[in-house]
Amino acid sequence: MRQKIIAGNWKMHKSRADAVSFVQELKNNLGDTRVDVVICPPFTALAAVAEVLAGSKLALGAQNMHWADQGAYTGEISPLMLQDCGCRYVILGHSERRQYFGETDGQVNQKVKAALAHGLLPVVCVGETLAQRQGGLTETVVGSQTAAALAGLTPEQVAGLVIAYEPVWAIGTGQTASEQDAQQVNQYIRALLAEQYGQAAAAAVRILYGGSVKPANAASLLAQPDIDGALVGGASLKAADFLGIIQAVG
Ligand code: PGA
Repeated sequence: MRQKIIAGNWKMHKSRADAVSFVQELKNNLGDTRVDVVICPPFTALAAVAEVLAGSKLALGAQNMHWADQGAYTGEISPLMLQDCGCRYVILGHSERRQYFGETDGQVNQKVKAALAHGLLPVVCVGETLAQRQGGLTETVVGSQTAAALAGLTPEQVAGLVIAYEPVWAIGTGQTASEQDAQQVNQYIRALLAEQYGQAAAAAVRILYGGSVKPANAASLLAQPDIDGALVGGASLKAADFLGIIQAVG
């Protein structure tokens, strides 16, 4: 039985003070959840949030990182720096990074390897654009992004990964993939991993859905057999909405 994950991706939102008061509220109202809850604040709030999360069941994640340990990479953040801030997870290859910052499959692969080498759990994002979906290319795109991001990994490493299927057309648009469409793609990713890395790895890897997840649609998405959780953007910015999604897991 795969443990479900609800991860909040705050993107470029919240001051340190706002971040701290959010996680305090979340901690106070979380109750006895069986879900792995991950908060991914902007870099500037990581350390402050880590202090509040210390000793709680909530985990900290970053939204991106560089693959090198250190070096002349102005503006970048290394895996060691994320560890130093108390991160356990790191989102890699988000479509906004690919779209606005030119991140390539090859770079995502380098980042995935570096994260694993430093004991960080990657949340690897894949997903097709609207034009690609309309052109019948969803499985081709998602399949090649997944294969490229994971190239060179062992079955054991794949088993411990988190993958997030996030159709680009559903991110921040209010347009959610139907639970059938999301299930179909997640199942396709798992089947692909079974072929490449074996049944055991495919059965263990956690595959999330992301794209306009909110309290009202979370339960039906999360009830699908191959949807092991959600990567939540907009609805992770308000504690009440985010709690509603966590509670929807049941
Ligand atoms: P959204 O974002 O929930 O606002 O659609 C999801 C994401 O980008 O991870």
